[in-house]
Amino acid sequence: MFLLTINKKWCKKCNICIDLCPSNALTSDEEGYPKLADEKLCTRCKLCELRCPDLAIEVEVIGK
Ligand code: SF4
Ligand code: SF4
Repeated sequence: MFLLTINKKWCKKCNICIDLCPSNALTSDEEGYPKLADEKLCTRCKLCELRCPDLAIEVEVIGK
């Protein structure tokens, strides 16, 4: 299981995480913040977390 958390105080809706996700697992929500489009597509690579210039997205893997 894993959690994908967006810190809305820091996220500036730049879409870098969405554009860089190699699995196309992210999309925008109705407010323009990133969210998972399909949890099954996410490989937990953490590229979104590593590339966010504002440290606003976190991928936390819980268990296996
Ligand atoms: S890269 Fe960071 S600041 Fe930009 S949309 Fe994604 S979470 Fe928000
Ligand atoms: S962890 Fe990787 S596959 Fe999952 S949303 Fe982030 S960039 Fe995409």
